Amino acid sequence: MTARAIDGTRLGDAEVSLDQRPARLRLGRPGNEREHFLDWERAIDDGGHLRKCIVCGCDTLYRSRSSPRLTIIIAVLGLSIGAVGLAGYGTPPVLLVATCIAVTIDLVLFLRSWWRLTCYRCHSSFRGMPIARYHLGWDARTQRRIDSANQPSPGSS
Ligand SMILES: [Zn+2]
Repeated sequence: MTARAIDGTRLGDAEVSLDQRPARLRLGRPGNEREHFLDWERAIDDGGHLRKCIVCGCDTLYRSRSSPRLTIIIAVLGLSIGAVGLAGYGTPPVLLVATCIAVTIDLVLFLRSWWRLTCYRCHSSFRGMPIARYHLGWDARTQRRIDSANQPSPGSS
């Protein structure tokens, strides 16, 4: 998981086991670590899935999928092939092979990429675990609702 403070600043990455449910978490750069308390109260549903944010306690999370970085490389390669082809030189085999390799790696990464849950309020993200079906994708209206609900008491955590 990647924990963040309420204001969105990154606190750090940590491995948290849903089975062990540690009450505290040390985050930060070495030598500058701070302890954070995790809120496991009703955080796990009957199916063993994460139901709410264990960092700030917000019960609204959204699911997202990290897009493979290689997609950009493929786009560039594809454009190169197109440009060379348009220039009338024919398509160099090297470019074709490179594109095929990149597409293959990209596809494998995409299929293996984990969904992750992100908190609407503190934007901590949780990945590497099964995600319950009731968590939906990011929604602008929900984000506004969470933001406005969060405003009257800034900094209270
Ligand atoms: Zn949160």
